[in-house]
Amino acid sequence: MADKQQPEVNIGLVGHVDHGKTTLVQALSGSWTDQHSEEMKRGISIRLGYADATFRHCPGVDEPECYTVSAECPDGSESEPLRTVSFVDAPGHETLMATMLSGASLMDGAVLVISASEPVPQPQTEEHLMALDIIGIDNIVIAQNKIDLVSADQARQNYEEIQEFVEGTVAEDAPVVPISAGQEVNVDLLIGTIEEEIPTPDRDPDADPRMHVARSFDINKPGTTAENLAGGVLGGSLVQGELEVGDEIEIRPGREVEEGGRSEHVPIETTIRSLQAGGETVDSVTPGGLLGVGTGLDPSLTKGDALAGRIAGPPGTLPPTWEQFTMEVDLLDRVVGTDGGEAGEIDEISTGEPLMMTVGTATTVGAVTSARQGECEVNLKRPVSAEPGAKIAINRRIGARWRLIGLGTLQG
Ligand code: GDP
Ligand code: MG
Repeated sequence: MADKQQPEVNIGLVGHVDHGKTTLVQALSGSWTDQHSEEMKRGISIRLGYADATFRHCPGVDEPECYTVSAECPDGSESEPLRTVSFVDAPGHETLMATMLSGASLMDGAVLVISASEPVPQPQTEEHLMALDIIGIDNIVIAQNKIDLVSADQARQNYEEIQEFVEGTVAEDAPVVPISAGQEVNVDLLIGTIEEEIPTPDRDPDADPRMHVARSFDINKPGTTAENLAGGVLGGSLVQGELEVGDEIEIRPGREVEEGGRSEHVPIETTIRSLQAGGETVDSVTPGGLLGVGTGLDPSLTKGDALAGRIAGPPGTLPPTWEQFTMEVDLLDRVVGTDGGEAGEIDEISTGEPLMMTVGTATTVGAVTSARQGECEVNLKRPVSAEPGAKIAINRRIGARWRLIGLGTLQG
């Protein structure tokens, strides 16, 4: 398509499992799935669940029928592209929430999908809305999905429950759009509402570029000869600034080196050899959507996600690397998604206990070496790079899974 554009805004798809997030992404981006077939893109999309959609407009057609994702309008004329958006539909919702809470700024707005055929709220509906609330994402559209499964009365009843549930939260004034993602009912109205409620943010073009690396690859087939080897590939998202082919970048925390029985991480430097965004090879990229960066690195360094969770940017501009840190701790009132009661209570953090922490897109496990009221010191299994003041999502193992128990602030 001649008008293929880079995505310019990231929209999170949040909500309870099975309420229809993935179906909705398909309804909005169906014509694009072919372009995701390429190996590298597929890998990243599955892990983070990004899918691009170009919203289009039909001049001379009434609202909301004028909004579409197809090239042809209802009246047979040709539609015009408005903008390309990237939906972040993380299959592992726990990962998504931790990343959101640690403020990696990967989302500029969110669509909260709520099924009309179940009581409101379901556990992850509540969890995800709380996450949006904590980080202050207030560009929210609520998609009341599966209206094909309920009567008009049930739909109204469910709508009342949604209104009651969002009262006093960041989604209080969010529009509620009744849809059927499965039957593609009211998708045009949803697009129009997203255009209204989730604008593309103003970006500072002069900010130092910073990329969150979510995946890394060796794209060479086994047995490729040395002179034909392609350099290592990084996949992730740009949160600020602009990257160009030919730019020097540094990656932190870099590579683990052993010296005298002690291991430490040294930053890696390389040159950008190629860039991919929106399914295209490009010369430069700005924030929005997924990004593939071909580098001059030895592919053995990037193989098998070895550099996942790192950050990349111009040499000398990246934040420090921490092997241990002190963080201020704000415990939640209760474990979200539970009814309160004993299962929901959160005990103080204690010395010696293991915690799982997400900082940016990096997730690391650490042992608490000292716990005081409102503060604790942790020793990390794998170091992270982050600015002092960075937000940290703190998880404790409760039963079989890691559960969010609080938010930390990195002190140094
Ligand atoms: P997710 O877990 O939120 O990503 O949910 P999915 O998109 O995987 O959908 C869960 C199930 O609900 C699937 O079987 C879908 O086919 C079905 N589903 C999704 N949207 C609709 C809808 O609008 N109407 C009906 N009847 N079923 C739907
Ligand atoms: Mg899904």
